[in-house]
Amino acid sequence: AKYSEGNTYKIYHRDMRERLKERVNLSIMLHIALENKEYFIVYQPLVDVRKNQIIGAEALLRWNSPHKGVISPGAFIPLLEESGLIVGVGEWVLREVCRQNKLWQDEGLMPMVISVNVSPIQFEREDFVDRVKEVLKETKLKAKYLQLEITEGIAMQNTADQLKKLHELRNMGVKIAIDDFGTGYSSLSYFKEFPVSSLKIDQSFVQDILKEGNDKAIISAIISMGHNLGLLTTAEGVETEEQLEFIKEQGCDNVQGYLFSKPITSEDFEKLIKYGKAI
Ligand code: C2E
Ligand code: CA
Ligand code: CA
Ligand code: CA
Repeated sequence: AKYSEGNTYKIYHRDMRERLKERVNLSIMLHIALENKEYFIVYQPLVDVRKNQIIGAEALLRWNSPHKGVISPGAFIPLLEESGLIVGVGEWVLREVCRQNKLWQDEGLMPMVISVNVSPIQFEREDFVDRVKEVLKETKLKAKYLQLEITEGIAMQNTADQLKKLHELRNMGVKIAIDDFGTGYSSLSYFKEFPVSSLKIDQSFVQDILKEGNDKAIISAIISMGHNLGLLTTAEGVETEEQLEFIKEQGCDNVQGYLFSKPITSEDFEKLIKYGKAI
């Protein structure tokens, strides 16, 4: 084929248009996805390292698109955030998880803490705490069985407003975890006032444990710092026995990762708890 600048430009142009079109289409589809009940939640077990026992789960959002099949949140959460749709979807996740957790307790399953991810866009809303309170009341789930995962970014802002919300949640009995810990620009000083219960060590550190570098040192520093501050520590993304071994040696409290289980449907999670399969 003959090469010309003009052609390159056209191809580039068409490519951009295609991508823009796809984004717009995706936004429109996301808009109706909630109404069409296309979202669902998967649960990834949280395992107590010392007892080798499941003690809870993290709830993770999935979208079953009629056109594209099941899609992971990395591909659509940013779009939900840009459009503000995350507020409604996030509240749906919260309600769905609290409802399911209460149902499990009513069926006699051991009581568990289930974690829900909260977008900064959601957390910044003035009525966020009221919405959480409302959902707990509506679903009759005790606050101590709900953990909210917020990112270091929210934590770092450390404004009077954010702190007030965290204290209100904490006073209600809701647990707070700092997600992806170690990837932000955290300063230790905020933990003085910060009402959190646990640190979730980002999986990037865990996965590079066996490579050369500082990841081992970082992990053991986070764990001992967490413990000195009276916080629980969770290692995310544990995939191998070697990683687990190191995490254990360091005294980490909980682990989450493919080594134990991928995120699974509520039905499978219930079976796992009842019949102890896979662990
Ligand atoms: P996250 O909160 O850090 O969640 C952990 C991610 O790591 C999940 O990806 C999980 O499937 C994956 N993971 C768990 N164990 C392993 C492992 O051993 N190896 C590897 N390679 N990955 C592992 P997922 O479900 O695709 O979620 C991606 C991100 O999307 C989450 O990261 C979270 O930031 C966001 N997200 C998920 N659900 C929600 C939600 O309901 N609301 C909000 N606002 N964000 C959510
Ligand atoms: Ca999380
Ligand atoms: Ca995380
Ligand atoms: Ca993450």
